[in-house]
Amino acid sequence: MRWLMVTALVGMSAAVAGTARGDDSESAVHTAIIDRVSDEEARVEPDDESPGSISCGRANRGALHDARELPRYGYGYEIPDPWWSREHRFGTDELVGLIERAAAAVAEHHPGAMLGVADLSKDGGGALRGHRSHQSGRDVDLIYYALDDAGEPFRPDEHMAYYGRAGRGSYARSPRFVRDITARYFDLARNWALVKALIGDSEVEVEHIFVSSRVRQWLLDYARRVGEPPELLDLAKRTLRRPRGADSHNDHMHIRVRCSAEDEALGRCRNPIAQRPRRGRRWHSRVTCPALPLVSMPTLRP
Ligand SMILES: [Zn+2]
Repeated sequence: MRWLMVTALVGMSAAVAGTARGDDSESAVHTAIIDRVSDEEARVEPDDESPGSISCGRANRGALHDARELPRYGYGYEIPDPWWSREHRFGTDELVGLIERAAAAVAEHHPGAMLGVADLSKDGGGALRGHRSHQSGRDVDLIYYALDDAGEPFRPDEHMAYYGRAGRGSYARSPRFVRDITARYFDLARNWALVKALIGDSEVEVEHIFVSSRVRQWLLDYARRVGEPPELLDLAKRTLRRPRGADSHNDHMHIRVRCSAEDEALGRCRNPIAQRPRRGRRWHSRVTCPALPLVSMPTLRP
């Protein structure tokens, strides 16, 4: 919902102008400049009438309107092949922003960190091969940060390493089975930093981070060892979850964000996942997003 931020920006300028007004002549000049900037902003803003992305339906039976594409490279992350070629790199504005901020936060404090981003949703959302969810732009798979034999950051390659009990990954099950891959080691510091950045994000609420029970234990033990505060540990305990049924997240973490307040207010986005009474076509029945505009752009200037 980009126009909400725009409105806030214009509102902020008006507030600044308000405090300056009524002082000496120098302030009056500032006021005039700020007023002019406000005018220019206001004149430009109505062009951006797109309400932004809309997540429709549920994570496992949904669609995605006006998706945002995650660029292949950004600060601290990349989308390696084969995920890049699959073109499942679309999400809500909120999810894409979250990935960019979290990867940047980890890279900022841990030089050399490079997050491998796998599947988000496809453009328009809907059923995605190999996934139960990832339908409404609120899910993403992230490849665990790894270290090489020398303890240096390992740049993501075309495999999702499957980590054994000792934290070593030497084979992959996904995206295809490969018996021998370059050995790598689960990077506790960077993976914990990623979890921390995700659950601590000020703009987006992360609903779940799905990991295996093994990885969950590693991360929580590490957080305790480095003396993280109890509130953060509690939040991490609640958010880090082993998905019901399968314990397959030894090779990646799956992030799901909650519906944004705007998408929920539009009545399109649903947080609870759909029950699965049947599989097959019914299970993948299409959910369509309604035609836009759903709401009209607020008039900034009469
Ligand atoms: Zn996933």
